[in-house]
Amino acid sequence: MEHNTAAARDESRQPTAHDLEVLSRQLGRPVRDVVEIPARCVCGNPLVAATAPRLSNGTPFPTTFYLTHPVITSAVSRLEAAGVMNSMNDQLAGDDRLATAYRAAHEEYLAAREAIGQRSGIGPVPEIDGVSAGGMPTRVKCLHVLVGHSLAAGSGVNPLGDEAIRMISEWWTADKCYCDGAWDTAGEAPSRDLSRHGPQGLPEIVGRPAPVRKSAGTTGVPE
Ligand SMILES: [Zn+2]
Repeated sequence: MEHNTAAARDESRQPTAHDLEVLSRQLGRPVRDVVEIPARCVCGNPLVAATAPRLSNGTPFPTTFYLTHPVITSAVSRLEAAGVMNSMNDQLAGDDRLATAYRAAHEEYLAAREAIGQRSGIGPVPEIDGVSAGGMPTRVKCLHVLVGHSLAAGSGVNPLGDEAIRMISEWWTADKCYCDGAWDTAGEAPSRDLSRHGPQGLPEIVGRPAPVRKSAGTTGVPE
């Protein structure tokens, strides 16, 4: 069966029409520009959506891995509410080996995004070169981003994403299906984008106008 592994992985990455409908129900809004499903529940439903590094409207989009499963997103929100990001930032500041591993996770994120850009025919997106998400490479600003990355990359790549996954084991573990009742399966799937993009770790460069510079000042000192 080993010869089938790569092909099976490619096939399972491809979002089906059913996947896109499930994603819309999980998020309560239609999804846009999803190019791959990098992590799935044991039952096959998406856990994470991979968004194209450049949206179809031309906007560069650095946040590639978006956690979609409501059971996991709410469990991770509990960690955030409990202050886990603060303790992780303290850990990062005091542990060189962890800081190095976290920086490597950032690099892996960039490489994975580039590969997704290539596979989806989008190519390089120079505007977001070196920009990952979630606070990487030196801070923790969004645990959803780190968990999404860990689920997509597999364990051993993002140490803090892995740690957050261990911390939610009371509510979610990879070996079981938690889909039943986790989202509304009755009625039509959301078809209008009412909520815009969610708050998961969008860096400041997205959706924000470029800073206005005063024209050629003489001192360069802000007034
Ligand atoms: Zn499931």
